[in-house]
Amino acid sequence: MHSNASGQVAQTLIDRLQAMPKVEIHVHLEGAIDAETVYQMAQRNNFSLPAASLEEWKLFYKFRDFNHFIEVYGIASQCMQTAEDFAWMTEKFLQNQSEQNIRYSEAYFSPTLHSGKLTDEEILDALTLGAVTGEAKYGSRVKFIVDISRQYPHLQTKVLEFALQGQEKGIVIGLGIGGPEVDYPPENYTETFAQARMQGLRVVAHAGETEGPSSIWGAITSLQAERIGHGVRCLEDASLVAKLRQRQTPLEVSPQSNYCLGVVKPNEPHPIRQMIDAGLFCTLNSDDPPMFNTNLNNEYLTLANQGFSWEQLWQLNLNTLEATFLPEAEKEVYRTQWQAFLQS
Ligand SMILES: [Zn+2]
Repeated sequence: MHSNASGQVAQTLIDRLQAMPKVEIHVHLEGAIDAETVYQMAQRNNFSLPAASLEEWKLFYKFRDFNHFIEVYGIASQCMQTAEDFAWMTEKFLQNQSEQNIRYSEAYFSPTLHSGKLTDEEILDALTLGAVTGEAKYGSRVKFIVDISRQYPHLQTKVLEFALQGQEKGIVIGLGIGGPEVDYPPENYTETFAQARMQGLRVVAHAGETEGPSSIWGAITSLQAERIGHGVRCLEDASLVAKLRQRQTPLEVSPQSNYCLGVVKPNEPHPIRQMIDAGLFCTLNSDDPPMFNTNLNNEYLTLANQGFSWEQLWQLNLNTLEATFLPEAEKEVYRTQWQAFLQS
């Protein structure tokens, strides 16, 4: 684990955070697959990995630095090839989520990473099969938010079409943008997002991670993003903080991702504390968990280790549930489960 671990946190709190029912709203399917599952897909597809054994591959998979992370992400994505792979990795994702008591996830999926492998329909049917099988086996659910890779602005219409087809099938609920923020401002995607909203897709945007406040302003004004991925750099602009506070726009905060990618310095407390103190609506997430040597439990532990109380961590868990795009009736079912846990 990066820079924190569970050093000073009482075992009872560690156990309670593990047992606590959770949801997660910022996690990338392709970035959430463990090294072993990727290894098995590579073997099945005769894809040659830069490692001679599973043990070597597991070491390679661990976070080192930004360039290595991009390399691992690229290789992992190339191992995902067949309909069976997409179904199986979705099922494995739900198994991992379930082991952390994550009952529901809104996961990002980036079709641009998989262009030329299968038809959109084949991929969407495979994701659906994996979601149905995984839910039946592990009792954890997933819906997808389709991410435009912002370095390929010319492909955004294709990504929207993929999202709309997935919406019809009931597996996709939203559209987002991810990838490099610098040089690819939200304004490039205004028209596509307007169409997505008109068609009933929920819209979100990665912003304020590697780029500053202007990117978040663009996301909320041009794209009308309902949630912001990361958003931590809003703190650089008091008027933006005021706007986000007034709107109570959920921010999808992922501390270990920020430490790994250098958005926050390794030995500094995470700015989520300042964000909460400023009245911002924060949620807690793991982003690309095995690639950042983390998982959602560890994100809660990271903050526990930085002095967050059980009540503060529970509030983040409640916030994350409220920030989901679930219909009100389904949210209410989870609220009841959350309350039952508190009283158990
Ligand atoms: Zn992300």
